[in-house]
Amino acid sequence: MKVLVTGGAGYIGSHTLKALREEGIETLTFDNLSTGHEWALLGSQLFIGDLSDYGTIKKAISLFKPDAVIHFAASIQVGESVLNPLLYYSNNLKNTINLLNAMIENNVNKIVFSSSAAVYGIPQSNQPVKEINITLPINPYGQTKLMIEKILSDMAHANQIEYISLRYFNAAGADSNSLIGQAYKYATHLITRALKTAKGEFDKLEIYGANYPTPDGTCIRDYIHVDDLAQAHLSALRALNYNIKNEIFNIGYGTGYSVQEVIMKAKEITNIDFKVVTVQRREGDPPFLVADNTKIKELLKWVPKYDSLNYIIQTAWEWEKKLSKLQ
Ligand code: UDP
Repeated sequence: MKVLVTGGAGYIGSHTLKALREEGIETLTFDNLSTGHEWALLGSQLFIGDLSDYGTIKKAISLFKPDAVIHFAASIQVGESVLNPLLYYSNNLKNTINLLNAMIENNVNKIVFSSSAAVYGIPQSNQPVKEINITLPINPYGQTKLMIEKILSDMAHANQIEYISLRYFNAAGADSNSLIGQAYKYATHLITRALKTAKGEFDKLEIYGANYPTPDGTCIRDYIHVDDLAQAHLSALRALNYNIKNEIFNIGYGTGYSVQEVIMKAKEITNIDFKVVTVQRREGDPPFLVADNTKIKELLKWVPKYDSLNYIIQTAWEWEKKLSKLQ
């Protein structure tokens, strides 16, 4: 089997790429290296290109002739999407339309799409969300993910493609051997910020609000290890080959941890008592966002292996220490 991976040089993309190759799947990464890194490919094949350039993606697909596409490439910063919405509608929506056109033109009809829990916006209750919950994104990033899901659904209805959309909750952690991990220039995610604070890259960690309607007042999220996320893509590909298609799945563990709990665990694992201050709420943060993962477990037989905040933070910490040496 041959799979084209857009954004394979990025964080989740590179872990998925590694998992695909370990299964003997031939891959080609299509990436503009704007935020990804060539080292993250661990020697696998790269086609440098930008999805905004229709001719280039068409060429990559016609040369490689993949059986399926996994589409990670996107802009992913919520705050940036609020400040510069058009960038998100261009990079995410318009570029995905280019990719889909190039697939159609080359008779490639299977796609696994990186979606996000951001499509749910602020759920009405502190209950794990199901895929059938109302989708009301509250920022352009989430809007683009939802719009692409609608496009995929319409195209599937027209028998043009077969898709699986995976709605990620909070991806975190790194490869167990620290070969790859998160390496964004501007880290915004909680676990990464906490560990970089422990390393001394920031003088303090800010908690964005401690007056939410949760037991300790800080927001609760479903942190999922990136390797379990990667395996879900393999499950999705297999499913498409066995005729489970045109479905949307949450990927999370169904377990929530508060910002405070994550910080305590990060201090315990690093053995560093870094400074923490509480500041104003960040715009658009739901108090509670945890996945109901019944559907992916039942339909795709996805079995998570690393459902442990300890393991997630431990692997992220090992990676952070290695990253310091690389930079
Ligand atoms: N958060 C925080 N301080 C930080 C980064 C994040 O308090 O420096 C909080 C954030 O408000 C949210 C949770 O941690 O409640 C997870 O945020 P993150 O950006 O990691 O992921 P998101 O859930 O926004 O996708």
